Amino acid sequence: RVKQEGRGALRFFEASMNAQLQARLLLGQELAHAVERGELVLHYQPIVNGVTGEVETFEALIRWMHPTRGMVPPIQFIPLAEETGLIDGIGRWVIDTACREAAGWPHPWRVSVNVSPKQFRQTDVCAAIGDALEANGIEPARVVVEVTEGILIDDADKAVAILNRLREMGVRIALDDFGTGYSSLSYLQLFQFDKFKIDKSFVNRLGEDDRALTLTRTIVNLGHNLGLQVTAEGVETQAQLDVLRSLGCDQIQGYLVARPAPIDAFTDLDRLRTKALFGRERARLTA
Ligand code: C2E
Ligand code: MG
Ligand code: MG
Ligand code: MG
Repeated sequence: RVKQEGRGALRFFEASMNAQLQARLLLGQELAHAVERGELVLHYQPIVNGVTGEVETFEALIRWMHPTRGMVPPIQFIPLAEETGLIDGIGRWVIDTACREAAGWPHPWRVSVNVSPKQFRQTDVCAAIGDALEANGIEPARVVVEVTEGILIDDADKAVAILNRLREMGVRIALDDFGTGYSSLSYLQLFQFDKFKIDKSFVNRLGEDDRALTLTRTIVNLGHNLGLQVTAEGVETQAQLDVLRSLGCDQIQGYLVARPAPIDAFTDLDRLRTKALFGRERARLTA
């Protein structure tokens, strides 16, 4: 009996695996047409100055507006795009769209684009960035490329060569999700990043956990000692903001300031509200 039930469970397992595979295949086919059908959009999340609260940069975050599934987040289709080779076209679309939109912004805000490790290895990121800079006439210094430590795992020399080429073009390079994923610091000898983005898993725990505070302080100091800027991501509470500011964190990003949204949703009123979050702390410090 037990054996029979086991076999039944296995059949059920196989059937559901099959269903999952089918669903993935279908999603992949739909994704192949998403660019031409205009279903991909960029949302933007402000990254603000840690002292003044002024917006300095907007991070572009891709969303797939699927006609029946609704808004599909990147975690559900970027890995699929990487497996199917669609990441080349999608990545180019992201870089070009971000540069085109940012070139028309009413303020000289920077735009930050994400490039995943597989995308970095599979596609010619330098060509994509070079083409987008030229086509849209945006100054390279207004463009930031966010990469993670994962780009250095396979062939660090090649990755560093690509980063150096991007640097020569005049774009900035940020190290995203800093402190997760890759356990060695030796790669910091190979390349001078422009900024670290402290992963939100550290920021989340600030105020709950002394260890998170120590780690966050150490990352801020490490960044500053290496001569780079430090951004905290995933800031959700005023208490987290206050701690990060007291540590001298250069930039703040998170739901507390604003959620990612279409750029038009971000108004002057939001800028004032954002600055007010920082005013409270300033008022307290000067009291
Ligand atoms: P990331 O680059 O580390 O982006 C930060 C993620 O944290 C975003 O999720 C953002 O919406 C979310 N976030 C921002 N503030 C908060 C907060 O206060 N609390 C919490 N809990 N989350 C916050 P999203 O947009 O779902 O993107 C997830 C990841 O997908 C990104 O992580 C990035 O690795 C990747 N991604 C997004 N857009 C692109 C793209 O255009 N190309 C590539 N290759 N990857 C992308
Ligand atoms: Mg990012
Ligand atoms: Mg991140
Ligand atoms: Mg991430």
